[in-house]
Amino acid sequence: MQIRPDIAADAPLLTEWRQDIHRNPELGYQESRTSRLVAERLTSFGLEVVTGLGGTGVVGTLHGEDGAGSIGLRADMDALPMQEMGESDHKSEVEGVFHGCGHDGHTTMLLGAAKSMGAVRAGRRAGPTVHFIFQPAEEGLAGARAMMDDGLFERFPCDEVYGVHNWPDAPFGTACVGAGPMMAASDKIEIEITGKGAHAAMPHKGVDPVLVASHVVTALQSLVSRGTDPVDAAVVSVTKIEAGSTFNVIPETATLGGTVRTFRPETRDRLEAEIERTAVGIARAMGCEARVEYSRGYPPTVNHAGQSARFAEAARRLLGDGKVSTDPEPCMGGEDFAFMLEEVPGSYLWLGQGGEYNVHHPRYDFDDRLLPVGANLWVELVEGFAASRQG
Ligand SMILES: [Zn+2]
Ligand SMILES: [Zn+2]
Repeated sequence: MQIRPDIAADAPLLTEWRQDIHRNPELGYQESRTSRLVAERLTSFGLEVVTGLGGTGVVGTLHGEDGAGSIGLRADMDALPMQEMGESDHKSEVEGVFHGCGHDGHTTMLLGAAKSMGAVRAGRRAGPTVHFIFQPAEEGLAGARAMMDDGLFERFPCDEVYGVHNWPDAPFGTACVGAGPMMAASDKIEIEITGKGAHAAMPHKGVDPVLVASHVVTALQSLVSRGTDPVDAAVVSVTKIEAGSTFNVIPETATLGGTVRTFRPETRDRLEAEIERTAVGIARAMGCEARVEYSRGYPPTVNHAGQSARFAEAARRLLGDGKVSTDPEPCMGGEDFAFMLEEVPGSYLWLGQGGEYNVHHPRYDFDDRLLPVGANLWVELVEGFAASRQG
């Protein structure tokens, strides 16, 4: 692996920046210090900077030549509401808040790339326009969506958009980026079944919602096993049943709760419709009413083919042939970069970090050796994009 000299020379500085952000973690939509640091540094690199998008989001822009296209590079800035248990000298100084997913590293890698590209461009328009997007609240609070609702892609049009996540499950110096689904959609279901309460010794005087709920739970299990393509993957789990208060009363209602995980948008749409149809249909057949509430969380993170090939090519140039997997097993976790990929063609890459602990573990820490690698990967990607526009 050959890191560009300017980025290699910046490695100690990037480490200092990352560890400072690590010591001062901020939760989703509260990233005011981090966001201010990012904005100040982008300004000092000569970028045009806009703050306050989606709350604490920041966009830095390097303007390029007309007709050279535009590319968006995205990092996330938020920390997790959990206690760090590691003992490094840059340990979190905020009780119960911790950069346990490495977003401190993502923010710093993108700053490193902006510094390098800003210096090369200094004072002249050359190559494509590059938007450096720093989003708030990736961890469950949909900061990407918030920036988009604030007009991210209208104000900063991007032909393509890219995201990177550090990946402890892959060895250091490798990358994984495939076309198609990388991360799952994560949705929530709640089903309320209303029957007719009665004395338990006289069931014929009522309509038993407990029996109906049991049939619904069983029937929902056929939606994946019988209704989903076996080479696709999906999960429907009923995780909660609530009904009744004593042994000799048939209750009036029963409530079911659960989760649905899918990769393909069409599978998600189908399961949403079929869960409703199954619950309502079974309830009606048995003389009850069912009300289904399906709440969509993050959509699946689905990589576009052409952009994934471009990202893989950039990673191969940097990391070497044989270091980039273009056919990784997708992960059942969720990721809000998914929202951006629904609107703009792009790709999301896992940058191998190795190490003992995975993200969200209390002893996890971002590996600072990855900072110049990630910064260099961004530069490499933009050069690949520029070359494609010239051809
Ligand atoms: Zn996370
Ligand atoms: Zn993360």
